[in-house]
Amino acid sequence: MAYLIKKPARTLSEQVYAVEAAKGLGITFRRLFTNVFGKAEDKKIATIQYPDESRDYPERFRGVHRLTHRVDGSPRCVACLCCSTACPAQCIHIEPAEYGEGDPRHGYERFPRLFVIDELRCIFCGFCVEACPCDAIRMDTGTHVPASWSREHFIFDKETLMSIPGRDGTYVTDNPRHEPGDPTHPGIDRDHHH
Ligand code: SF4
Ligand code: SF4
Repeated sequence: MAYLIKKPARTLSEQVYAVEAAKGLGITFRRLFTNVFGKAEDKKIATIQYPDESRDYPERFRGVHRLTHRVDGSPRCVACLCCSTACPAQCIHIEPAEYGEGDPRHGYERFPRLFVIDELRCIFCGFCVEACPCDAIRMDTGTHVPASWSREHFIFDKETLMSIPGRDGTYVTDNPRHEPGDPTHPGIDRDHHH
């Protein structure tokens, strides 16, 4: 049912807008002087002196990609193309290759001969990380792609992607799949490989 809301009555000083405007300006100037000249603990300023100061990115911030390593320094990636298939921006290019004779992984799995991400085209959705069955690609670097004057600087190749550590400074990740060549895989002589 409709009902009437009573309009609040204004006092004379509120009717004369100049008084209220002056009060508002008083708050503005009080904040301004506190923030510029006041003690640090009284300041309520939201800006920071970037780039001298910067804010910490949140824990789950999706930063620039990295390719994780195995203990022997080779890429954990098995060039399955799941990430490039899942990528909505189609900015991942992979060329798979086979491990050679004598490598315990020979005949079992592939590695990326080329692995390129166009970081300028990427929309940082994280689908590639979700799609990867090997924990081979991560966005836990805690940093964004550096600004540059050239588009070429945003084309990150395999070597670049493998040179970026995670936030904790590590490159190696555990193998979630226990594939041949991993010490957790039964029946593989690791001494042969090392
Ligand atoms: S974050 Fe998204 S857009 Fe960027 S490479 Fe991964 S899947 Fe593609
Ligand atoms: S990064 Fe992961 S999903 Fe992408 S090709 Fe390599 S193993 Fe497959």
